[in-house]
Amino acid sequence: MTALAGRRFVLGSYRRILFDVDGTLLLGNKLMPGAVEFVRACRAAGLDLCFGSNVSFLTGPMLASRLSEAGIDARDRECVTGVEVLAGELRRVAGAAPIAVVAPREVVALLAALGVASREFGELRASSSILSEVAVAGFAAGVSDELVAVVGDCIGSGTTVYVNNLDPGMVTDTGVIPGSAATLGRLMERANSRPTVVVTGKPSPLFAAVAEAVFTNSGPTLVVGDSLNSDVGLANGAGWDSLLIGGQDEIWARGAPAPTFMAGNLAAQVVAGSVMTERSVMTERSVMTE
Ligand SMILES: [Mg+2]
Repeated sequence: MTALAGRRFVLGSYRRILFDVDGTLLLGNKLMPGAVEFVRACRAAGLDLCFGSNVSFLTGPMLASRLSEAGIDARDRECVTGVEVLAGELRRVAGAAPIAVVAPREVVALLAALGVASREFGELRASSSILSEVAVAGFAAGVSDELVAVVGDCIGSGTTVYVNNLDPGMVTDTGVIPGSAATLGRLMERANSRPTVVVTGKPSPLFAAVAEAVFTNSGPTLVVGDSLNSDVGLANGAGWDSLLIGGQDEIWARGAPAPTFMAGNLAAQVVAGSVMTERSVMTERSVMTE
């Protein structure tokens, strides 16, 4: 059984809020219930905000535009995306050396704009040496079987694969679109031996460090998101609280990260004084016990 306690959620007890975007504030380009009001309440309470998404096809300023167009007040410097964190890590490990990138064309172009050169397909196909670094990002449908085969054949135990995230995919209003985890699976099927896999997006400490740099204050921090693995996992790893959105009735697997609070959505949660009600399904989830 899972132990539940009745700690009340008080927005004003936090200094910093990190928002996930897809499935939390937006569903496709539609607003999630209560998203605008909740972000507004955070601003009114003077909280430090960061919008952190695992997306591969947007930079921070592009994410800020997407949020603003939907009606959510987000500023360029507050937005962090998976492709930016991936690019930062690739620049750190490889410098200016071109990397084998297994991603859709637009993601390859975005990485190039962020200072990461990718190796040419023809050159990869002509080479049979084991790759030291491989980058994986973006929607799986944009990655050809040919590219997976050529790179997969050059993955060995000495290879490190940097993957944006291991999420099931991007949550949209028409379903989940498979992303980098699906591409990684295809590569693993093809590879002869297991590489080292490094996740750069949420819930990695790399992503937490970039988000940390966005905040201008220190103090109690809350992650608001809809993914147990990525959002709650990020919070738990960084020592932050979490609010899991979605009213997930899923079975909690043993060892799954446990959120601090849960809510079906952000609607009707904000009342006078920036205090959230207990009337919703919001409950504190303490340490999981049997
Ligand atoms: Mg999400």
